Amino acid sequence: MQEKPAIVWFRSDLRLRDNPAIINAVKSKKPLIFLYIYSNSSDASFQEGGKEKEWIFHSLTSLEKDLRGKKARLVFRMGDAASALSDLIDETCADQIFANAEYDPFLVKRDRKIKMALAARRVQVSFFHGNLLINPFEMMHISEKPIKELSKFIAILDQYFRPEKPLDAPRIFLLYSKKPFSVGIQKIEISFDFAKYWMAGESAAQNKLKSEDGIISPHLNTGEVSPRDLWHRSDRQEELKIREFAYHLLIFFPESPYRPIQNEFLRFPWIHNLHFIASWQKGKTGYPIIDAAMRELLSSGYISDDHRQITATFFVKNLLLPWQEGASWFMDHLVDADLACNTYHWQQVVGSMDSLTELIDPALMSKRSDPYGNYIRKFVPELSNFPLEYIHMPWNAPKELLDSCSYPARIVDLEDSKYRALRAFNQLKDEK
Ligand SMILES: Cc1cc2nc3c(=O)[nH]c(=O)nc-3n(C[C@H](O)[C@H](O)[C@H](O)COP(=O)(O)OP(=O)(O)OC[C@H]3O[C@@H](n4cnc5c(N)ncnc54)[C@H](O)[C@@H]3O)c2cc1C
Repeated sequence: MQEKPAIVWFRSDLRLRDNPAIINAVKSKKPLIFLYIYSNSSDASFQEGGKEKEWIFHSLTSLEKDLRGKKARLVFRMGDAASALSDLIDETCADQIFANAEYDPFLVKRDRKIKMALAARRVQVSFFHGNLLINPFEMMHISEKPIKELSKFIAILDQYFRPEKPLDAPRIFLLYSKKPFSVGIQKIEISFDFAKYWMAGESAAQNKLKSEDGIISPHLNTGEVSPRDLWHRSDRQEELKIREFAYHLLIFFPESPYRPIQNEFLRFPWIHNLHFIASWQKGKTGYPIIDAAMRELLSSGYISDDHRQITATFFVKNLLLPWQEGASWFMDHLVDADLACNTYHWQQVVGSMDSLTELIDPALMSKRSDPYGNYIRKFVPELSNFPLEYIHMPWNAPKELLDSCSYPARIVDLEDSKYRALRAFNQLKDEK
């Protein structure tokens, strides 16, 4: 009779290379079952948006193919994770589960409950930190309390940690001999022209790794590539340290996706203006650089770090809209939506509220980031015929030119927005 099997439970680690859950499962010498669960909506803080879902669909297709190449099968189940695991254990008598940890606060709680419930059934659940450079709790052990400043975090990281070398994918697996029921890969409704922009999967991620300027974040987000692989095989170490810090904040400030880390901003008089929110979301603010970036987000699911910074700052500081709404829109529309990185940056924008010199002038930012106006012309076709002198500030264009296109007027005047922001911030200080 075959030994009791172990389950490798894939989550945000859709890869075979440098995957500690897989390596440890192989080391256990047990026959393996590979599992992916389409969890239901109550399982996480944020549900994946359509574009991220589509990425996961393509990534799973690729993972399934890679596993088939090693004669293994990927079992797909649906429903809440606890029940799906419990059913599979009933059917197969599996007595060990290997997985890489998740850090969304809801998933942390869920996983803790699952581990306890299964321990009572004598099923051992082991989680590994395969999606981070280092074990976040070892860092906490050194710092003794959660760290709020990036520079301090990096100083400790540099002094005490050397991210381990990535591990090769196992060449062969010992497999469970029976074929547990699988619902198969769930087709999803196509929400955008995915193939025009992206290629998902571990091989695509490895190819990106070889090119210096390829966008890697969606691959990292689905776990098609590990941060340790990136650390050792690219020159993105500084960026990865910021990512690691973002995870530190999410783990040790689990309310941060909703609650400002700096308490005084709980009292900030945000303005709930639905017209402003909708104009920003759809790229109709009347500020070309903001609109171009927000429309790029809608079409491709990605915008550069600079454009994320500009659009988020405009949302928070110029429009005084509640930052959680902007963060949530990004989570819904980014292909690389990552609760830790996204929360960290939106919190950063709010935390720098006192430096209103950073209240952005979109026209100035636009001239800097898009000196010839090509980016704007690509994503804001209404302005494609505008000469360079007006492309960043169409409101200064002659009336005939403006009337000839359907580009919206600015939703706020810059001077007004500066005045409102100062007043709101002073109100906060006065209440201290
Ligand atoms: C408002 C705002 C929201 C953001 N939301 C997300 C998000 O949801 N998901 C996400 O992955 N990144 C987010 N970022 C960070 C950053 O914009 C992206 O990681 C970056 O654009 C990815 O580009 P790249 O793949 O070329 O990464 P590279 O520049 O090649 O860096 C390699 C990896 O390091 C990490 N990284 C790089 N820059 C940063 C950074 N500034 N902060 C944290 N990690 C970083 C990413 O995981 C990235 O894939 C956000 C930034 C801002 C300002």
